Amino acid sequence: GSTIGILGGGQLGRMTALAAARLGYRCIVYAPDEDPIAALVCAGHVRGAYDDVEALARFAAQVDVVTYEFENVPEGAVLECEKLKPVRPGVKPIHFAQHRLREKDFLRKLGIGTADYQPIRSEADIAAATALPGILKTCTEGYDGKGQARVTDRAGLAAAWDKLGRRECILEAMVDFECEVSAIVARGLDGATRCFPIGINGHRDGILRTTTVPSGLPAATLATAERFGIELAQGLNLVGLVALEMFVTKDGRVLANEMAPRPHNSGHWTMDACATSQFEQLVRAICGLPLGPVDVLAPSRMENLIGDEANGWPRYLAEPTARLHLYGKAEARPGRKMGHVTYVLPGVLPPSSGSSRT
Ligand code: ATP
Ligand code: MG
Ligand code: MG
Repeated sequence: GSTIGILGGGQLGRMTALAAARLGYRCIVYAPDEDPIAALVCAGHVRGAYDDVEALARFAAQVDVVTYEFENVPEGAVLECEKLKPVRPGVKPIHFAQHRLREKDFLRKLGIGTADYQPIRSEADIAAATALPGILKTCTEGYDGKGQARVTDRAGLAAAWDKLGRRECILEAMVDFECEVSAIVARGLDGATRCFPIGINGHRDGILRTTTVPSGLPAATLATAERFGIELAQGLNLVGLVALEMFVTKDGRVLANEMAPRPHNSGHWTMDACATSQFEQLVRAICGLPLGPVDVLAPSRMENLIGDEANGWPRYLAEPTARLHLYGKAEARPGRKMGHVTYVLPGVLPPSSGSSRT
């Protein structure tokens, strides 16, 4: 097919469309907003809610293959599109990615390690909780650390659960990690898989700030992380991309945190410092092309521009090692990802401006 439909209108869809255009594909975005930033670089935009069956059918009729750029697109929207066109990576990955308990159960079933966890649905669950100290997370809808609370004991857990509206939650034991990494794995129509080189992720206030490649981690640790990513892609039977966020513990164990069946912020470095970008890899996978090579072209560090930080963007224009990406969002609200800059340097990287461990 030559036209790709993208469910969702954010920066991941936008960067997918830019990569698709370079390979000669057209993209059409489906999103409820008036001027989604993805549609600004696409051939078309179908505006509609994710439960608008008619608009979804009109959208699917205009494209050859459908993908999605966020994992919280309702399953119903994907099923509606699937009536008319292949949706890659399909409904199974979002079924698991949309619900943290289902997700963790699925990872465990595949033999992928996780921290201890337990469901929190009632006061009885709280009275029996043992995964403490831990992090309480709502099962659905959280991102950028929203819908989470750190708790040390059962009293704190009870208070936190109240504060989260007594919704269905998961309690995860706190991992005292050495660092965080993610494996981004593509799987093609023919079942071939390829994992991008694994980077180290720095977070602040629950939001990803930086990704650095190469990671400098021991080969055995990287091999485990890569194997987990590939087993996940195969276990989901997916055609497209999946990112698996993981913790590396001080004693070298690898524990999965969560997955995202789409391009991932921690893979943005590939746009400037890898033989194939994660967005091009997604396009190749869903369009049935062979997957691209994933060689690192140079050491790099991606830094997110969040909220006001993006206002300083002109300074990057003069930096020879900086590659600037702005997403074209109208309003720089606090905590909002406005763009990123990737330092690409065939040598030593400049000192980090903002990464910390949590
Ligand atoms: P994202 O924006 O990545 O989707 P999210 O809101 O879904 O974020 P998580 O990725 O589950 O949330 O958690 C955000 C961050 O909080 C993690 O990257 C990690 O730094 C920290 N964190 C989450 N769970 C744990 C844990 N069990 N132990 C220690 N730290 C954790
Ligand atoms: Mg998440
Ligand atoms: Mg996360």
